[in-house]
Amino acid sequence: MVKPFVPQLVYVEPRALEYDLGKQLVAKFEDMGIEIRETTSHNQIRNLPGENHFQKYRIAKSTLVVGIRKTLKFDTSKPSAEYAIPFATGCMGHCHYCYLQTTMGSKPYIRTYVNVDEIFDAAEEYMKERAPEMTRFEASCTSDIVGVDHLTHTLKRAIEYFGQSELGQLRFVTKFAHVDHLLDANHNGRTRFRFSINDSYVIKYFEPGTSRLDDRIEAAKKVAESEYPLGFIVAPIYLHEGWKEGYKEMFEKLEATLPAHARKDLTFEMIQHRFTKPAKRVIQENYPMTKLELDESKRKWKWGKYGIGKYVYTSEEQEDIKDTLGSYIHHYFPEAKIEYFT
Ligand code: SF4
Repeated sequence: MVKPFVPQLVYVEPRALEYDLGKQLVAKFEDMGIEIRETTSHNQIRNLPGENHFQKYRIAKSTLVVGIRKTLKFDTSKPSAEYAIPFATGCMGHCHYCYLQTTMGSKPYIRTYVNVDEIFDAAEEYMKERAPEMTRFEASCTSDIVGVDHLTHTLKRAIEYFGQSELGQLRFVTKFAHVDHLLDANHNGRTRFRFSINDSYVIKYFEPGTSRLDDRIEAAKKVAESEYPLGFIVAPIYLHEGWKEGYKEMFEKLEATLPAHARKDLTFEMIQHRFTKPAKRVIQENYPMTKLELDESKRKWKWGKYGIGKYVYTSEEQEDIKDTLGSYIHHYFPEAKIEYFT
């Protein structure tokens, strides 16, 4: 089982020490004997250990910055929510296809923000703006928040905060099974707890540093037993030899483990594998030995955000994915809702 994340190195921004959480985290890391360095701002971090890009990248991904979220303007987060709520950025996982490699560029370290109440206040304003409509907040757009939450408990506070709100809902997704501290959170059914799942082949070859499928499913079972609304994101759906069998096995395992009551309010989101040209360059630099198939000529080109085209599966392949996985979901979980395929 993948162990809960422990940073190798911690940076602290001085202003973070004005907040209780900042002080608590520094005391905790001191107790754990972890090296702590000060930095005026995360942008000033230039001297990370490591002799070459490969080493520096890996050390950065096990470095935690305790800082302040300055921008309290939230990004939109379609199609799963109205807004992205920023509690952390970066991730300790090493998924070869991960989009954070491009979005975080030369700063792949993990940052946790300690001005949590200010983030909640900003969320409150967004909720007021949309009232009486419900506003959904997605907490895992720029990180795998569960992966770091056993240290910070920020997500737990957010779950309880939205549990008390009238017009807000929280959702997040994770590939980590370290959920025990979240099980007794007072969620009031207002948080949808989602797990990102994939077949054994994809997890084995492309998702190092994350919890294995069986552990994620066991964690999902515990989450369901704690009465959270539950969901799964099957992503990225990746075509490899034997994919139909691989995904079938994945759904079979899920079916064998989930408690009956959880199947009534269950959601599935399906996202096919895609890449952009800039992402392909970064992936090949960070994971030079990857088996990930990134051949543009086998894919269909599709307009993407900011004019950067992405390569998706061909229309026929997409139909095949939708039919195949859709039929598995209908077969094993007839009451579940498929939210989208993209
Ligand atoms: Fe990226 Fe998610 Fe993998 Fe972390 S767990 S590296 S956020 S895909």
